[in-house]
Amino acid sequence: MTIGAHPDDAEFGAGGTLARWADAGCDVVMLVVTDGSKGTWDHTVDAADLILTRREEQHRAAAVIGASETVMLDHRDGELEYTLALREELCLWIRRLRPNVVLTHDPWRRYMLHPDHRVTGWAALDGVVAARDHLFYPGQLAEGLAEHRPAALLLWAADEPDHWEDISATFDRKVDALLCHSSQGATTIGNAHENADRREDFSDRLRARAARQGHPVGLDAAEAFKMIQP
Ligand SMILES: [Zn+2]
Repeated sequence: MTIGAHPDDAEFGAGGTLARWADAGCDVVMLVVTDGSKGTWDHTVDAADLILTRREEQHRAAAVIGASETVMLDHRDGELEYTLALREELCLWIRRLRPNVVLTHDPWRRYMLHPDHRVTGWAALDGVVAARDHLFYPGQLAEGLAEHRPAALLLWAADEPDHWEDISATFDRKVDALLCHSSQGATTIGNAHENADRREDFSDRLRARAARQGHPVGLDAAEAFKMIQP
């Protein structure tokens, strides 16, 4: 189960890993906390249209990854606040989906600029803590859910990575999944969908990043994480 702030965050952080796990028969569920409604530099794009576009892009990207389910919580992009209600909502989804592994943003990452990334990381971690003990949100248990303790948390874009996943075989799927987010052309993916040259530039940048991440453990292409075992 991924918990990402925006459509495309989980694909950037863990897309190759998720595709490999899906191929191996894992159920991958991608949960996106915000609606992505501020993700454009184009003044002519209407926010309501952008929400629909980004939802559709997320579903297509999830299909490329091989995810079995996508959950959109539709909080307003850019204005996510850490609240007990958000923690409870993430706890609810963890208890519903009962993931073996939760992947999310590393909220300890120094100089992480985007507020939604910081808030999502904190609320996801705290949601995991709440999900595992029955005295947190007993109303959820009264409705038939049980407490749940994932085996591991993996934090992408981690400050101090200590766990690596080989993405050599699924690197291209990661690129393809990211390219589903065409609305992010001018912002995060550098107009990579526009023509083959730009696509190659984008793929080269991601390839270099995957090589940097894999270098400490001798992998050609990897995604690096901080692992926490709750
Ligand atoms: Zn993001």
